[in-house]
Amino acid sequence: MIKVAVNGYGTIGKRVADAVAAQPDMQIVGVSKTRPNADASIAMNRGFPLFIADPAKKGAFEKAGIAVAGTIEDMIKRADLIVDATPGDTGAKNRILYEKAGVKAIFQGGEEHEVAGFSFNSDCNFKDAIGRQFVRVVSCNTTGLCRIIKAMDREYGVVKVRAVMVRRGADPGEIKKGPIDAIVLNPVSIPSHHGPDVQTVLPNISIVTLAMIVPTTLMHMHAIQMDLVSAPARERVIEIIRKHPRMGLVPRTSGITSTAELKEFVMDLGRPRSDLWENGIFEDSVACDGNELYLFQAIHQEADVVVENVDAIRAMTGVEKDPDTSIRMTNQALHFQAI
Ligand code: NAD
Repeated sequence: MIKVAVNGYGTIGKRVADAVAAQPDMQIVGVSKTRPNADASIAMNRGFPLFIADPAKKGAFEKAGIAVAGTIEDMIKRADLIVDATPGDTGAKNRILYEKAGVKAIFQGGEEHEVAGFSFNSDCNFKDAIGRQFVRVVSCNTTGLCRIIKAMDREYGVVKVRAVMVRRGADPGEIKKGPIDAIVLNPVSIPSHHGPDVQTVLPNISIVTLAMIVPTTLMHMHAIQMDLVSAPARERVIEIIRKHPRMGLVPRTSGITSTAELKEFVMDLGRPRSDLWENGIFEDSVACDGNELYLFQAIHQEADVVVENVDAIRAMTGVEKDPDTSIRMTNQALHFQAI
């Protein structure tokens, strides 16, 4: 059993902890919290040993009825690997702790590529992560882009990708973030950082991205256009998406034309936290014109990177060297079902 600790039990960390706990070859040996809030009591209910960033707050946790197992340094000693899911740029500071302890660590997309020197996507570069001490799982948008770009590159060869990202303003629980009534260019200048981020995983892909933020919390939406080396056939593109373990086809027959309906559908499927781990690609949007491909995909920002973290754990610890086997194991443990 791989002993995994999650440093930063927030939006991503709590999902990674549940996904890890569901795997047959991994166990959670600890999660960390800074405050005794609702997430802390959920961690306790799940039976995850809880460690704290600031020992001076031990009394506050205990007063709230939450048992404290020790400090983050204590947690690190118990683990084979740390998933660092602290807010952006905090991981870079925590790296010193992991280095000192000689423990493996995964960082998230809010960190720079340089924090690990290696950026990961299960379908693109699993084998290059085998045995590494530090890996960064790229952001939700980059993960979604890498999946579809790699799949099309494998089949047709990619000449150029152009993508517009309509980004959610905040996660549902983030009551202090916006915008409330604006479309915010993010940034005004072109390209956005997403294209270069894709190139940290797929360095040979030519890509330009534009991004804006809108007042919604549920998901991002990508409008993607690719120039391909050979002409794509629409039915074949749809077949590739349907068979891909991390892409889901939103069928024409579902009548779903929005992130809200898609989220409702995933909720009705009974997925934990109504999480959509796959790219939600709208069947009706898939269009081919000569060597050009067009499509819309919805990306559930809180969910798609979670399964990538699980695969990265297998690659880094070397317990599984085949990406397809790891992806299958991860999906099976979470009971993926077709959307
Ligand atoms: P979050 O704010 O929801 O959770 C972070 C957690 O870390 C909180 O519980 C916070 O209390 C805790 N924390 C803060 N400082 C800490 C410290 N020094 N030590 C231990 N714990 C600490 O953040 P999030 O949205 O889960 O983001 C985490 C990372 O994942 C970031 O790099 C982010 O960019 C990336 N990411 C986020 C999303 C998303 O949509 N939320 C998607 C993909 C990737």
